[in-house]
Amino acid sequence: MVDLYNNIKQIHEAYNKKLISPIELTKDYFQKIKASKHNAYLTLCEERAMQQAKKADQILVQTGQVPHDRFPLLGIPIGIKDVLTIEGVRTTCASRMLEHYIPPYTATSVLRLEAAGAIVLGKLNMDEFAMGSSNENSAFGPVLHPTHHDRVPGGSSGGSATAVKANLCIAALGTDTGGSVRLPASYCGIVGMKPTYGTISRFGLVAFASSLDQVGPLANTVEDVAKLLDVMAGHDPSDSTSLRTQKINYTDLIQTKYDLKNLKIGVPNEYFMGGLQPGVDSSVHSALKWCETQGAKLISVNLPHTKYAVAVYYIIAVSEASSNLARYDSVRFGVRYPDKAEQDLVEFYKKARSLFGAEVKRRIILGTFSLSSGYYDAYYKRACQVRRLIQQDFDKAFKEVDVILSPVSPTTAFKIGEKTSDPLQMYLMDIFTIPVNLAGLPALSVPCGKDNEGLPIGLHMIGPAFGDGKLLAIANAFEKGFRINHG
Ligand code: GLN
Repeated sequence: MVDLYNNIKQIHEAYNKKLISPIELTKDYFQKIKASKHNAYLTLCEERAMQQAKKADQILVQTGQVPHDRFPLLGIPIGIKDVLTIEGVRTTCASRMLEHYIPPYTATSVLRLEAAGAIVLGKLNMDEFAMGSSNENSAFGPVLHPTHHDRVPGGSSGGSATAVKANLCIAALGTDTGGSVRLPASYCGIVGMKPTYGTISRFGLVAFASSLDQVGPLANTVEDVAKLLDVMAGHDPSDSTSLRTQKINYTDLIQTKYDLKNLKIGVPNEYFMGGLQPGVDSSVHSALKWCETQGAKLISVNLPHTKYAVAVYYIIAVSEASSNLARYDSVRFGVRYPDKAEQDLVEFYKKARSLFGAEVKRRIILGTFSLSSGYYDAYYKRACQVRRLIQQDFDKAFKEVDVILSPVSPTTAFKIGEKTSDPLQMYLMDIFTIPVNLAGLPALSVPCGKDNEGLPIGLHMIGPAFGDGKLLAIANAFEKGFRINHG
């Protein structure tokens, strides 16, 4: 039954026609999840979900049809990356450190989805503390690519992307600090968006790098991403960095067919300087060409500080991470094994901190170094200055163009184990996504083709700050038009 549906509209039509009820659908999803080998879910919220489904059933009995104005996500099964808290539900961040952590409150993003009628099926696998590009850093094992099981789904929201593509939920939440929503969306062939920094509350999001972290929706269509964003966006008094901008109805906005005619598309020279896998290069170019046939103008732009972005990110992100992760000391947060080591403070700390995996440790060490007195000015402060230059590159480009298009990643989904021994190789997978986080801009990945092995390729669309609505409208026009012409 589940496989009849892959977007919100289809499910709501089925509810309206009484072809299936929220309870039946939710049960079907759990059956499918339990039979799946993808390792996408870390924790299932079966009882909680069935209660929500029951409520959705009751609402439908009362109203007959889905009341979109009050419950735009009524009975829609979603998955949540295990970095967002849900009261009473284990939240691990895919780390041994938080293996048994039960948070006492729910993230605002999740609360808002639930208030709109969504059903939370469970918590999704990820790279430990959202550090990674392949989902191989999970303490609970890697997530498999939805269609090519020897490949990674991308990270760090790999569980979210695989779950959506394999239809283990209709939509999911991920988080994007340097590309972690867009990269797995691209590798798995779905849509994933990182909104403008501050659009979705970070309250209840376990912090990795606070000045970069942003919650983002993943779904099969641009329209569904817009629907989730509609529900989640908006100021939250519990997050001082959440924006106080006017409420926008993204779903309505994208319906007003956005004309690609006369759209000014920026093509950054620095993003096409070689090193792209041939399939990625040709797919992105044919997408650009298609936009041109629709009347868009391709304008080459320069983002000259792009070459510093990965280095800058790996100073700023690890510095913030080393500070954010200091709370996991087995006293304030973290597993505490009663042991005689407790009698010796140094032993106690050693034992506690060794619960982290290798990548997390590597970053804490790097971050502690770059923040240490004597090195702070040379590394952290310098990186913040270059971050500003990267922002200014975009500011300048957006004076001339409406949107910037590029590949999401230089390659398609790689083999499990292929890059684990070389962290630098792994870091380069995010070369096109990282600058966007450093500048705080909105961006998304939308499918634009496949390589010769059938692996999906994502087109990266970057908008100016607060241009989320327009970006979604352009993506929607692309998704609809390009698909018609390219199967
Ligand atoms: N791959 C990047 C990293 O490991 C980005 C992660 C993310 O966006 N959470 O830091």
